[in-house]
Amino acid sequence: MAKKVKASASSAKRVYFFGDGKAEGNAKMKELLGGKGANLAEMSRLGIRVPPGFTVTTEVCTYFMNTNGKYPKGLKEEAETALKKVEKIMGARFGDAQNPLLFSVRSGARVSMPGMMESVLNIGLNETTSPGLIAKAGNERFVYDAYRRLIMMYSDVVMEKAAGIEPKEGMGIRQQLESQMRKMKDAKGVKDDTELDVDDLKKLVNIFKKKVKQVLKKDFPDDPYDQLWGAISAVFQSWNGKRAVAYRRIENIPNDWGTAVNVQTMVFGNMGNDSATGVAFTRDPATGEDKFYGEFLVNAQGEDVVAGIRTPQAINAVSKTEASKHLPSLEELMPALYKQLAKIRTKLEEHYRDMQDIEFTIQDGKLFMLQTRVGKRNGTAAVRMAVDMCEQGLISKEEAILRVKPEQLDELLHPMLDPRAEKSAEKLAGGLPAGPGGAIGQIVFTADDADAWAKAGKKVVLVRDETSPEDVHGMRAAQAILTAKGGMTSHAALVARGWGKCCIVGCGALNISAAKKVLSVNGRKLHEGDWISLNGTKGIVYDGTLGLLPADPEKNVHYKKLMSWADKLRKLNIRTNADNPKDARAARNFGAEGIGLTRTEHMFFGPDRIAAMRQMILADDEAGRKKALKKLLPLQRRDFIGIFKVMDGLPVTIRTLDPPLHEFLPNDEASQKEMAEQMGVSVDTIKAKVQSLHELNPMLGHRGCRLGITYPEITAMQVQAIIEAACHVTKQGVKVLPEIMIPLVGTKAELEDQRKLAVDTAEMVINKTGARGTGHGARVKYLVGTMIEIPRAAITADQIAEVAEFFSFGTNDLTQMTFGYSRDDAGTFLPDYLSKKILPAEPFQTLDQEGVGQLVDMGIRRGRSSRPDLKVGICGEHGGDPKSIDFCHRVGMNYVSCSPFRVPIARLAAARAAIENKK
Ligand code: ADP
Ligand code: MG
Ligand code: MG
Repeated sequence: MAKKVKASASSAKRVYFFGDGKAEGNAKMKELLGGKGANLAEMSRLGIRVPPGFTVTTEVCTYFMNTNGKYPKGLKEEAETALKKVEKIMGARFGDAQNPLLFSVRSGARVSMPGMMESVLNIGLNETTSPGLIAKAGNERFVYDAYRRLIMMYSDVVMEKAAGIEPKEGMGIRQQLESQMRKMKDAKGVKDDTELDVDDLKKLVNIFKKKVKQVLKKDFPDDPYDQLWGAISAVFQSWNGKRAVAYRRIENIPNDWGTAVNVQTMVFGNMGNDSATGVAFTRDPATGEDKFYGEFLVNAQGEDVVAGIRTPQAINAVSKTEASKHLPSLEELMPALYKQLAKIRTKLEEHYRDMQDIEFTIQDGKLFMLQTRVGKRNGTAAVRMAVDMCEQGLISKEEAILRVKPEQLDELLHPMLDPRAEKSAEKLAGGLPAGPGGAIGQIVFTADDADAWAKAGKKVVLVRDETSPEDVHGMRAAQAILTAKGGMTSHAALVARGWGKCCIVGCGALNISAAKKVLSVNGRKLHEGDWISLNGTKGIVYDGTLGLLPADPEKNVHYKKLMSWADKLRKLNIRTNADNPKDARAARNFGAEGIGLTRTEHMFFGPDRIAAMRQMILADDEAGRKKALKKLLPLQRRDFIGIFKVMDGLPVTIRTLDPPLHEFLPNDEASQKEMAEQMGVSVDTIKAKVQSLHELNPMLGHRGCRLGITYPEITAMQVQAIIEAACHVTKQGVKVLPEIMIPLVGTKAELEDQRKLAVDTAEMVINKTGARGTGHGARVKYLVGTMIEIPRAAITADQIAEVAEFFSFGTNDLTQMTFGYSRDDAGTFLPDYLSKKILPAEPFQTLDQEGVGQLVDMGIRRGRSSRPDLKVGICGEHGGDPKSIDFCHRVGMNYVSCSPFRVPIARLAAARAAIENKK
């Protein structure tokens, strides 16, 4: 698989032109042109007006990285040719004193990494070109506004970040320049940037230049080509910037993809009141509704909308929020332009057949599109859009299913604040509902604190004025994110939406002092560590902790429809792991089609049972054990009756006792004493027993079927309880299908031993207590099978299948034993293995298909070679992992079994597996 290292991208084309209704690239070329470049090319081809420009490929980025900042030979010439083409279309020239052309230099990787990399606007403005632009635009203020922006962005991105300078907190050049600007506004007594006039901005340009020189010891470059190539290099370098690297790690994006660079003619949203800039989604990314949703600012440049400096206005009535409802919408302000934009919305959706996230700029009454990409959405919205688009004829059912990532369903299954508690709770403030669901946590004010507190096991809400890409690790760690500033397209909102995290933004009532770790809100003061509750679906912040309710996806009609399509397409059945009626009920409500694993040992830990269990363990002989087991029998029977009733009509797999007995005895002195008193024996007796049960390696010790073989009465009691319960409910008209599962089998003889015991016991019970005949109260049917969790069992599966009526792959143990990692001890080295990429993924979460998977595949094939109708499932943690589910589909399992809350995820993942493997 080793890829050939490209030493020089010599023969390849490295610069792709777009504009004027044409383009050399297209939307399919994301790997080479990045998402932004590919889609700019595509829009241009579609006849949508985009400012012309050219894209420098990701291969150049790779070359640049590998050569420590060099460019392949001939690149500059290629770029120059494309640049000339742009100049010709625009009838202006880069660096020209009379008729200057300006460029933006924009990053753009294969997949969007919102705000992680850099872009520089207004490249080409200098002492020579600014008079020309003033004459051309007839607007002096605008030119100086653009000029001061260029200096700020350029010094920050190119002269500081790309130069590897790491200023002290708050002392970055951008902040220093911003504070100069604030000073000027304060001196004038104004609030908005737009209130600074030409003379102010002129002065500011000079102040900025001086400050740059003073802080960075270098002049801001006046030469347009120096500016251009400085910016291009900086964008390439930003691929390896700290935040970009951190983001890629979280999102699992390979480091060697690289970014493309887009050099694009500037259009100006800051030319006056007929100019504007905005961002929009072709459908509502929070709810999924088929409504055009967006925000814009008059007389502004793009960065202003996302930065949350001014309150953005809504593009139309449905986009209005609490904060923007008093401001006119784009539709009201510039109706003709809104109509054009709405037309483009339709065109893009029909072309891409998916929700688009778009950027636009209006320059002097003329509309330009600056970006389109598939929009991020939360789970609820993803489901709704997929179903709507299918019903609107845009996509097929299969595509609809592939549009929703299984993990996204998690959000629909997310808890919500208890609405009754909400009614009486103290409302602290309201904001924009940027990420749905409810969350409760303690306030922290910095991303680092969020991270540290979460690591210490605390639940935190990260509260910030606004978030920036530097905060992602803390945002990840927090239960929820709350910001004072920013709109629905702010950084916090975008990131939270991508992750499906509860988030409220633009909560203007918050007055946050991160330095003092305190916030005031409507006359109240809250400190670090204080608890708050968030309703991210409505955008409300409450004081204290409210109750959290489990989610109820069954009320969501779109979800139900999507899942019904998924259920028709999938081949795998979905079962659940459940040890009690409550979990079984929850799983059944989520669509489980049976129980794949009931762990009986959990039933022995209850306060009413542990005594009898211990009595059995302490007993010296079989008679003593039988006496204790007699006490456990009715309790177990009752448990099974409860589960069978809930699972009426569906199979229930019950595993006989699995863990080593010492797990049922106390380890510490005090508890041993207590136990001795309760049982009327001496502490020494207990200590001796604990001692005798002590194992050096319990994972490989006296457990699983080994227990049942040395103590047959345990298996007998459990089977008796299972079958008696089955007979009991059968008489009540409940349909039961018990499957008795013997754990940790490694040889056929082991299973034969336990199977005989189980069958003898079951037949005895059925003959004694079971109903006969057919229909209501029919004779109980049952199966005896085994877990395949020891490598030897997988290898000799053909022999084992001669006595097993079903297999269930216990991939937790199978992974432990195949790798030779004890799962409980792997925490000491697994993190290193993952960070050093010695393992591609956590093998206890995602099945190791190359290794463990081969055993599974072999086990199934060998098993079915001797028993063709062998029923096969999986009951390890992997049964709820979408990638592993895809594997289970491919190797021909009958079902996967997972925890109740993952059942819907597994249903969808199974459908996706069926669709994707058909392709
Ligand atoms: P990001 O990937 O972080 O969104 P972009 O490359 O999209 O960065 O640039 C950020 C903003 O700069 C855009 O939202 C847009 O408003 C503005 N911008 C970029 N290029 C131009 C251009 N050629 N003309 C006008 N504005 C631009
Ligand atoms: Mg953008
Ligand atoms: Mg096991």
